[in-house]
Amino acid sequence: MDLHFSPEEMAFREEVRAFLKDRLPTRIAEKVRTSKRLTKQDMAEWHAILNERGWYANHWPKEYGGPGWSVAQAAIFDIESALAHAPRIVPFGVSMLGPVLIKYGSQAQKDHWLPRILDGTDWWCQGYSEPGAGSDLASLKTSAVRDGDHYVVNGQKTWTTLGQYADMIFCLVRTSTEGKKQEGISFLLIDMKTPGVEVRPIILLDGEHEVNEVFFTDVRVPAENLVGEENKGWTYAKYLLTYERAGLAGVGGSMAAFNHLKEIAQSQRKGGRPLAEDPLFAARLARLEINLENLKITNLRVLAASGSGGSAPLEMSAMLKICGTEIRQEITSLTRRALGPYAQPFVSEALDEGFNGAPIGPDYAAPVAVDYFNNRKLSIFGGSNEVQREIITKALLEL
Ligand SMILES: Cc1cc2nc3c(=O)[nH]c(=O)nc-3n(C[C@H](O)[C@H](O)[C@H](O)COP(=O)(O)OP(=O)(O)OC[C@H]3O[C@@H](n4cnc5c(N)ncnc54)[C@H](O)[C@@H]3O)c2cc1C
Repeated sequence: MDLHFSPEEMAFREEVRAFLKDRLPTRIAEKVRTSKRLTKQDMAEWHAILNERGWYANHWPKEYGGPGWSVAQAAIFDIESALAHAPRIVPFGVSMLGPVLIKYGSQAQKDHWLPRILDGTDWWCQGYSEPGAGSDLASLKTSAVRDGDHYVVNGQKTWTTLGQYADMIFCLVRTSTEGKKQEGISFLLIDMKTPGVEVRPIILLDGEHEVNEVFFTDVRVPAENLVGEENKGWTYAKYLLTYERAGLAGVGGSMAAFNHLKEIAQSQRKGGRPLAEDPLFAARLARLEINLENLKITNLRVLAASGSGGSAPLEMSAMLKICGTEIRQEITSLTRRALGPYAQPFVSEALDEGFNGAPIGPDYAAPVAVDYFNNRKLSIFGGSNEVQREIITKALLEL
């Protein structure tokens, strides 16, 4: 395959760059560049700007409000957005649930939910994991029992990212305990304001409130909120995961973070010369750059091979997930190493807008430790990297 962009794709890249220069609010880009906290309003503001341009649901088909981009265009957009320090699009509604509804939802569900994802009416979160059902997701126990034209839901979800902001949660629930455990799972859409839903924060290693536990006690959910067929939720769940994992390669984000690391390595000194010229550090930088280049090309190859739908085979998205997350973790690790004692942990205020300077060292040093600790999650969520390796092995050995 030709790994160079065509003249049309180069022109598209210029269009994206011009759009980002014109429409990405400087205040938000500056927060992303300096790893400051983004509020829900910041994220929603950026989603609305993208939606106005028709670029928010960038992998949806045109008939549902997507731009009808090729995979190369979508990749160009991701990379340019990250390099311009645009916030990552929050994936739960637009990148996870959207494709599931488009493929498996009823016409009424598409007509109701998709426009509300686009205009930001509903903020979604993902209710897959439970205590005791993470890697072994099919062991999930949260039950949904049919009662007339409702389901009654009881149980607990955990690690629910940004659930504190969510209006709605898409959940995997158990509707049958007979047969194989994968066969008794259904995909249900639940309003977070329904009586019996309770959200409790979990504070992560970096001291931040990003994830939650969500409890369900006799929560009544209209039966029309069941996606597809009862007990077929596992099929829809797996389809969603291919989108989730491919997105986790995070090529653009790593390119931007790597550029930042190189600037730091030039500015810090060791033994009377820039750290970037220290042989040991330079070797690690070089290895990282080579791996990042490989990731960029592999990502394009996988996207191209998976066609315009943007969904890759499980083992391919697993491979991208592993490589992308390991590279990002190595970048955060080297950035921390480059700053040495300046990269102190847990300077929580450093994430606030208006905070000037770290207690010691350059101002960009303060969020570095938080970033390092936060990104430990990358090899765990979306299916841990160990489990991704198993998926690849099974595919290779045709087990
Ligand atoms: C920051 C963060 C955000 C998250 N956000 C969400 C969210 O929004 N919604 C959601 O539903 N979930 C979310 N998750 C949950 C995430 O998907 C799970 O944490 C993940 O699937 C791992 O499950 P677990 O935590 O139960 O670990 P476990 O499954 O208990 O695994 C523990 C360890 O054992 C290893 N292991 C388990 N099974 C195997 C195996 N078969 N072979 C080899 N090693 C194995 C794992 O790799 C891991 O190292 C999030 C997690 C984190 C950390």
